[in-house]
Amino acid sequence: MQEKSIFQMILDKEIESEIIYEDDQIFSIKDINPAAKVHLLIIPKKRINTINEVKNEDKDLIGSMVLVAKELAKKYEIDQSGYRLVWNTNSDGGQTVFHIHLHLLGGEKLREF
Ligand code: AMP
Repeated sequence: MQEKSIFQMILDKEIESEIIYEDDQIFSIKDINPAAKVHLLIIPKKRINTINEVKNEDKDLIGSMVLVAKELAKKYEIDQSGYRLVWNTNSDGGQTVFHIHLHLLGGEKLREF
């Protein structure tokens, strides 16, 4: 069995973190090392290591994560100014936590690429 991810430990209250959103499938926290004024992580309760492992059966879950991100963007008042949604995958993508999560970044002008 693989080790618990840091996000699972947060969900299980083994590591302290403020959960800013939760439903039966998804939760959200503020990133501990923010890369923008607003930097939230939208995380499925189901452990999926990387986007490479997403299956057809996860389509609704992934869609729901985007809908949660949209609602959080509104709640944090960055929906009109704008924001970025990012999925990092594996080494070149800069993934450090192998439990998929959607980064929601905004609250300032983000670097263009
Ligand atoms: P990634 O590099 O795409 O895998 O993103 C993992 C993110 O999780 C990084 O932006 C980290 O800053 C963030 N992170 C790691 N540990 C914690 C924690 N305990 N609470 C909140 N965010 C965390």
